Amino acid sequence: MGSLALSRVAASDQPAPSLVDEVARVSRQELAPLAAAIDAGSVYPGELLRRLGEIGAWGSHVPQEGPADLRCAIQAMAAIGEVCGATAFMAWCQNTLVWYVANSTNLKLAARFGNGFASGRLLGGTGLSNPMKSFFGIEKLKLKGRKVEGGYIVRGALPWVSNLGPGHYFGTIFEREDEGGIVMFLADCSDPAITLQPCKPFLAMDGTGTYGVQFRDVFVPDELILAEQAAPFVKKIRAGFILLQVGMGLGLIRDCISIMDEVHAPLGHVNRYLPQQPLQFRELHAEFEKEAMALARDPYNTDDSYWRRVVALRLRIGDASVAAAHAAMLHCGARGYLKSHRAQRRLREAYFVAIVTPATKQLRKMLADG
Ligand SMILES: Cc1cc2nc3c(=O)[nH]c(=O)nc-3n(C[C@H](O)[C@H](O)[C@H](O)COP(=O)(O)OP(=O)(O)OC[C@H]3O[C@@H](n4cnc5c(N)ncnc54)[C@H](O)[C@@H]3O)c2cc1C
Repeated sequence: MGSLALSRVAASDQPAPSLVDEVARVSRQELAPLAAAIDAGSVYPGELLRRLGEIGAWGSHVPQEGPADLRCAIQAMAAIGEVCGATAFMAWCQNTLVWYVANSTNLKLAARFGNGFASGRLLGGTGLSNPMKSFFGIEKLKLKGRKVEGGYIVRGALPWVSNLGPGHYFGTIFEREDEGGIVMFLADCSDPAITLQPCKPFLAMDGTGTYGVQFRDVFVPDELILAEQAAPFVKKIRAGFILLQVGMGLGLIRDCISIMDEVHAPLGHVNRYLPQQPLQFRELHAEFEKEAMALARDPYNTDDSYWRRVVALRLRIGDASVAAAHAAMLHCGARGYLKSHRAQRRLREAYFVAIVTPATKQLRKMLADG
């Protein structure tokens, strides 16, 4: 894990260039050739995720003696997202798992898993969509648990959890049936009482190791509990959970701008009549990046105004991802309509930025509810 030292964010406004540059280089050289196969669902890039972990991509946001800084993690995910939206999403899954463990007060758990997740030796994700929706009154919690000697028994099913496979872990939440309250824990996909069920093919994101997960009276030992009191824990990690998603959108928007630029020479004379131009997206991207970098320096901020800025930025990133990918399609014309062109992949990926929890509709509800 020595290389993680490289990834610590500098005290200046911009993250240390070395890690982000290195992630960008690996993405261009090693991820780009796999992007179409990942999109088609024939490849889950586990080896590449481990390699990115080795160079420090999943460790830069681990808080060191107090404050945390998410800037480098967001920029690294943007570099990945510029090449492949599905892999940027898996990067978010992994980084979010690291974020949970780094904030857990279960020190034994942190000692056992922290290094493994941050270094990419162990892979996994997060099953917090259902809980996040439940906290904002959208749906009920799907996992139920009860206390037994040395842990809990958990049952229920989650429809979609990504970046999974044999030996992977993910953080999620159950509701206590016995005494009430909610508990956050690490689910171990190797547990025989946990079943991963392949999902029906998606519009995109099929190479993301996404499964329906069934818990059939799973014994969750105390050693896998992230937070006995999940409500205050979620309050602590929720801004980070959302801010880390920003990297997916920033990278995707950047590539959509490149796509528009690439067709400027042959088609600029007519594309200039389109209502949305690369310049507008460059300005938007710069604005989002500035706001993201400002918010990412302070993910434990408890001010309501800070939280609303995080939610508002996430909403705008989802909208702008779809708008940029739509504009890229119109700029490309028939070139982008070819299955082999990445413009149509970017459009399908952009919708995911807008529908992954918190989805556009949930973000709007959160802002409306105050
Ligand atoms: C490719 C992919 C990967 C995902 N990865 C993760 C992940 O790693 N972790 C995670 O927590 N969430 C994951 N999700 C879920 C995602 O974050 C959102 O929760 C989901 O897209 C729906 O959000 P929504 O707010 O639009 O809810 P809606 O779609 O409005 O409603 C969701 C609810 O509707 C029901 N529902 C909708 N469609 C179906 C269906 N086809 N079958 C059965 N029930 C259905 C379910 O009760 C579900 O909870 C993933 C989704 C997709 C498509």
